[in-house]
Amino acid sequence: MSWPPLREELRGIEPYGAPQLSLEQAPVQLNVNENPYGPSPACIDDIASAAAEAAATLNRYPDREFVALREALAAYLSRDTPHGIVPAQVWAANGSNEVMLQLLQAFGGPGRTAVSFAPTYSMYPEYARDTSTRWVAGRRAEDFSLDLDAARALIEAERPSVVLLPSPNNPTGTALEPAAVDLLCRATAAAGGGIVVVDEAYGEFRRAGVPSALAMLPEHRNLVVTRTMSKAFAGAGLRLGYLAADPAICDAIRVVRLPYHLSAVTQAVALAALRHAPELLGRVDDLRVERDALVAWLREQGHEVADSDANFCLFGRFADRHAVWQGLLDHGVLIRETGPDGWLRVSVGTPEEMAAFRAALTEVTGDLRTHLTTPLDGARA
Ligand code: PMP
Repeated sequence: MSWPPLREELRGIEPYGAPQLSLEQAPVQLNVNENPYGPSPACIDDIASAAAEAAATLNRYPDREFVALREALAAYLSRDTPHGIVPAQVWAANGSNEVMLQLLQAFGGPGRTAVSFAPTYSMYPEYARDTSTRWVAGRRAEDFSLDLDAARALIEAERPSVVLLPSPNNPTGTALEPAAVDLLCRATAAAGGGIVVVDEAYGEFRRAGVPSALAMLPEHRNLVVTRTMSKAFAGAGLRLGYLAADPAICDAIRVVRLPYHLSAVTQAVALAALRHAPELLGRVDDLRVERDALVAWLREQGHEVADSDANFCLFGRFADRHAVWQGLLDHGVLIRETGPDGWLRVSVGTPEEMAAFRAALTEVTGDLRTHLTTPLDGARA
């Protein structure tokens, strides 16, 4: 056996990770959809005293059921559904990445299948691989929406135990129509009784009038809606993701979670940040305005841009997207080379960061004018 004795299917695989460059290497960081605004001084003070209080208790294990945090998260989520959310419907873990892994540990596994529709979040196949769940990816339509007939056919053929779909989608920014969520839940329940995970990591950034799937929970007991504090709550470093679902689903996850998986510090800090929700969501509104301006500007420059309900947008198409990505980095602007061929993804930053991005892109695409492909059709413009 070779050294180290890694599982056969993991040999030679590179660990996931977007390039993490220092601020000296790339002063404008628009590559991992972070919130550019740090917490306010009042929020920082509150977090610091919450962490200090938690520090005094660190000789003890934390509340395994994180009751206070579940209550606060349920109250927060209740804003997005007329039906309300109760604490028994809420589960949390260290980032929605861990929530998703736990979902696959509990509901995937050998002999079971997880389905998504590409382009989709690049971590999903990794959760499937790590839990020995078979991975099947259908395709989205040309405009990145879901082709409902094709989706239903795939679900009927594959009988997945888990369907994973980000809404808004990463990397395209596309939100799912309520009709799509409804169809996915019904088709998955009928095909084999699986669950449908609507990953709303970017849910708070959706445009006015776009509903959250949370409102559909009473209709579908197999619907799971995940959220994170990494984006809207400017808490990527906090590592707190959560979900709302049928209490039976939360109960089932308790079987696979590690004991005391949410540290006392995490719980205390997340609670403190939730107390500052109005201030943090005010920043989200600023970012939504900045996002819409970015989409409009990119279109004015003749780029194709996918409609975005997230804090990033996908634009293109470039014959040599790597050259554009590298050109931007040479100007100190780091974005993400991801998505279908020819597209690039840029996160929404502060007005100053977006000005730097616009100036750099204008120079880079000017230099590379011949590399810019003409849009294939006007439908997406
Ligand atoms: N889902 C989607 C669609 C994401 O883009 C991300 C992060 N980029 C996550 C989940 C995970 O976020 P976190 O673990 O920080 O909550």
